Amino acid sequence: MEADLIIIGGGLAGLVTANRAAELGCSVIILEQGATPDYPCNSRVTGGVVHFATESLLEPLDFLAKKVARITGGFVAPEKTSSIAADGKRALEWLIAQGTKFVQTSPHPRHRWVMGPLRLPRHGLDPTGWRGRAGDATLRALTAKLKERGGILSLGTKARSLIFENNRCVGVAAEKDGAPTTFRGKAIVLADGGFQGSDAMIGRFIAKQPGKVQRRNAATGMGDGIRMLEEAGAKLVGMKYFYGHLLARDALKREQLWPYPTLDALATASIVVNGRGERFLDEGMGGVYLANALAWSDDPTDAWVVFDDEIWNKAGRTEAGFVSANPVLVNVKGPLFKADSLAALESDTGLPAGALTATVAAYNDAATNKTNPQLSPPRSTEYGTPQPILKAPFYAVPMCPGLTFTMGGGDVDADMRFLRPDGSVIEGLVGAGKSIGGLEGGETGGYVGGLSLALLTGMRAAESIARSVKAA
Ligand SMILES: Cc1cc2nc3c(=O)[nH]c(=O)nc-3n(C[C@H](O)[C@H](O)[C@H](O)COP(=O)(O)OP(=O)(O)OC[C@H]3O[C@@H](n4cnc5c(N)ncnc54)[C@H](O)[C@@H]3O)c2cc1C
Repeated sequence: MEADLIIIGGGLAGLVTANRAAELGCSVIILEQGATPDYPCNSRVTGGVVHFATESLLEPLDFLAKKVARITGGFVAPEKTSSIAADGKRALEWLIAQGTKFVQTSPHPRHRWVMGPLRLPRHGLDPTGWRGRAGDATLRALTAKLKERGGILSLGTKARSLIFENNRCVGVAAEKDGAPTTFRGKAIVLADGGFQGSDAMIGRFIAKQPGKVQRRNAATGMGDGIRMLEEAGAKLVGMKYFYGHLLARDALKREQLWPYPTLDALATASIVVNGRGERFLDEGMGGVYLANALAWSDDPTDAWVVFDDEIWNKAGRTEAGFVSANPVLVNVKGPLFKADSLAALESDTGLPAGALTATVAAYNDAATNKTNPQLSPPRSTEYGTPQPILKAPFYAVPMCPGLTFTMGGGDVDADMRFLRPDGSVIEGLVGAGKSIGGLEGGETGGYVGGLSLALLTGMRAAESIARSVKAA
């Protein structure tokens, strides 16, 4: 089969690329490995908050660019952010015209653009949480529009490898319903969603012990696009960074504990200690950073969040707005150690006697006297002010990192064309969504956005391909 664009992946990035290109007069085929109309993908089960670095996409470009440079510790240059965010207003208006119904869920600008009807908090991938809601509603609207525009969504079609002729990517070798088949196009778009479902790739790029990193995702991104990019000689960037949250350790074996509740608000108000009862991370750098740092460590499950009753009843109730650790951890009988003294907590958890008590004393002193930057490791305040741990009962929850999506991928130019390490363009090969790296991440775990980047990169990819198809 042949079309102007062959797009690998029918998540938000793939469907945006396909629809925008079809609207501009191109023929399009999406290859989607999922076989049923409600095929799983991250876009379908998403929370639906279309933010950009936890701000509204309508904020001034300069503000967004500076914020991304700051939260990524300089990993993403301001010019790169300004270039991609420049289409923000137009992209939101376009998505509304396709049928997305946005809801404002709080006065904060980051909650201005939340896909409706709102997703419900449910365990694991329980469809009663997402069916007909948020990402699923948007994907359904985009699929219907694609059909009206004459585009093809080829379900049950797994892309296996890229086809190159004369140094140009011209097609995809795939398997449809188990039989080999070939698709040829003027441009091939990788929109396969990253590698968050692949233990082997998580083990290669992120964690020494991938089995101790809980997937809080649809597990459909198997890294096929990354493999194809490597075979094509593309430059990969930011491969060790991911978006995720802190989860209760039992999430590794109990579906009731992912994707919610996350423990980020508790951790950023209090302390995270290892099995020796010592602080070892800067909690003030936020939950995404903490999840990354844990995944990169020798034992991602060697971590406890420790807090007091005051924190449990304040920060514990604000997590993620609507799915707070307090009371969900209690309701689902999650791992929650509770004791009247720190010594008793040490005894209950098996943390060494005296070690946690000493760590808490040093931390309390710093939190009270505002000398937290002098702690070792220092305690910053970007994502939460340290609260002293004083009021019994005291609590501890054993944790593991939860991985939502991978941030690493191929380096691209402003038209989303993949690049080689020497900066040259790989002709015919374009990215959208999580196949692209370098737009978020860094050692600080700077999170820019799953949905906003899928939307913006998809629009840009479609428009640049449509221009070159017309010019040819
Ligand atoms: C629980 C959860 C909550 C989230 N909440 C938010 C939020 O509130 N805000 C936000 O910005 N982001 C959020 N995200 C992240 C966001 O949903 C994703 O980053 C985004 O939807 C990714 O879009 P995508 O199109 O790149 O990838 P995906 O949606 O993963 O789509 C990729 C598609 O490619 C297909 N595919 C993969 N390999 C192949 C192959 N070889 N051949 C054919 N098809 C293939 C897959 O089946 C899949 O359908 C959340 C994610 C999760 C899991």
